[in-house]
Amino acid sequence: MSVTHDVHNQAPLICDFDAYSSDTALVEAVARYKGDWADDRLRSLGKIAGSHKGAELCRLANVHHPTLRTHDRFGHRIDEVEFHPAYHELMTIGQTHGVHNHTWAHGDKEGAAVARAALHYLYYQLESSVACPLTMTHAAIPSLRHNPELLDAWLPRLLKDGYDPRLVHAEQKAGVTIGMAMTEKQGGSDVRANSTVAKESPDGTARLTGHKWFCSAPMSDAFLTLAQSDQGLTCYLVPRVLPDGSRNIFRIQRLKDKLGNRANASSEIEYDGTWAQRLGKPGRGVPTIIEMVSHTRLDVAVGAAAGMRKAVRLAVHHARHRQAFGKHLIAQPLMRNVLADMALETEAAVALSFRLARAFDQAKTNPQEAAYGRAVMSIAKYWIAKRVVGLTFEALECHGGNGYDEAWPMAYLYREAPLGSIWEGSGNIQALDLLRAIHKEPQALEAVQAELTGCLGADKRLDRYLGGLKDELANPSTLQIRARRVAEKLAVGLQAGLLMQHAPAPIAEAFLASRLGNGGYLYGTLPDHIDLDAILDRV
Ligand SMILES: Cc1cc2nc3c(=O)[nH]c(=O)nc-3n(C[C@H](O)[C@H](O)[C@H](O)COP(=O)(O)OP(=O)(O)OC[C@H]3O[C@@H](n4cnc5c(N)ncnc54)[C@H](O)[C@@H]3O)c2cc1C
Repeated sequence: MSVTHDVHNQAPLICDFDAYSSDTALVEAVARYKGDWADDRLRSLGKIAGSHKGAELCRLANVHHPTLRTHDRFGHRIDEVEFHPAYHELMTIGQTHGVHNHTWAHGDKEGAAVARAALHYLYYQLESSVACPLTMTHAAIPSLRHNPELLDAWLPRLLKDGYDPRLVHAEQKAGVTIGMAMTEKQGGSDVRANSTVAKESPDGTARLTGHKWFCSAPMSDAFLTLAQSDQGLTCYLVPRVLPDGSRNIFRIQRLKDKLGNRANASSEIEYDGTWAQRLGKPGRGVPTIIEMVSHTRLDVAVGAAAGMRKAVRLAVHHARHRQAFGKHLIAQPLMRNVLADMALETEAAVALSFRLARAFDQAKTNPQEAAYGRAVMSIAKYWIAKRVVGLTFEALECHGGNGYDEAWPMAYLYREAPLGSIWEGSGNIQALDLLRAIHKEPQALEAVQAELTGCLGADKRLDRYLGGLKDELANPSTLQIRARRVAEKLAVGLQAGLLMQHAPAPIAEAFLASRLGNGGYLYGTLPDHIDLDAILDRV
């Protein structure tokens, strides 16, 4: 065979590193918020997330899409989804590391929610679409508390650190998962438009008839779902297998052909006299399921920070190995600015999302932290899930043409990036939920303001910015039209304060100099006095 050229100047694979220990911002956040007792588990998952094998599992699970089998060969409905073995292996890794239950398995320890957020952050870097069933399972437990009988039955199953893909009664399984089915064709954000009907029996069970337009991970063992009972929108738990071992009616109509998130199956389903158990009070469906949604929103913020981290790591790695115009890209001043600006955004995202995890951790015993969490949940989900999209594009562009090629990891990351902003309440809904939290519960804004006020006096630029923020909140009559602006400004103010308190000085300086009103619109626009080396050294 003739050889026309040598292959050179291509960045090698980045693999076999520990995604936990090598992430200084993460390690610091976990220690700061008392989650470092879980370091061994975090390192174990970090090594898998950084391994060649992990990258290969991610590739395989995304190339070999889940397929729906509605019927068996005889014509019976089976409603099963088949996955590539890589999917099952990824689920096993997630459930043996407790990504689906770690907060509740260690609920008595300070930092349990922070440690679990770090597990989610690492798992998200391993494979972000398989993170979906793990996230939903983890988040379901607070909602299950609304029915002690159901909690008693399901909690011991959920606390098992195993994965078991069989569609058999949950009692017989080495591990279970729980999904969520809220969104219908005529309305997702506005769940009050749900048309699924529940016919209740006196014993609290019900038969559901209707549909759900989005139902991810349809092979889960049970689903929290909403339906209209005589008393209004009510939350129910729908198991896939009935107590007698037979299958519940759960028709998977088709799987969505999605932009990204391809390893995860997302389906359209129909209920047709489907057996369900009521969860929470009749007519109180939204307050019951919102507890699940709060935890998935935290996970979206943490996951978006993780997506940023992975994108920046890949971009920096590529720039360290690729040469153009006689120098490595990492040595080109303008490329250094782009990389440092993205790394800075990631530091801010990690700081805010783990501060939020801390609030979830403290909420049980500290009302101020609970109030802070209710406001910052919307702020962080809104802002970080938006910011990851532009950042991922820049990281893709750092790879040049290779970034656009499916053989490289950036195309996958780019397709994943927008999803966090859509599900669990899209951007506008987050901004409006923030206003609702502020309006219904003045303590929520007070808790945020208390944190911001604590930062006053340390830097004139921040003082000016926080002064402006006060004006922004002053005119309630136009707040709705400015809801995104308010969420954005609060997010950036909180990030600035956190970086001032906890990050090395060059990082705080770069954030203040570029994000409080004087920055460019795109990445790579840090002013020239910024210490780019200090920022990049932490990647
Ligand atoms: C891959 C994927 C998986 C999913 N998995 C699940 C799942 O497992 N379970 C589940 O229940 N759902 C799931 N969803 C659905 C998701 O949660 C909804 O798509 C989302 O909540 C938005 O609802 P919608 O699609 O009905 O859009 P709409 O509610 O029609 O919203 C459209 C747009 O209008 C905006 N908007 C709505 N109301 C207002 C308002 N008052 N003011 C200003 N703007 C407004 C929204 O922000 C959005 O941008 C999934 C979605 C995707 C993409």
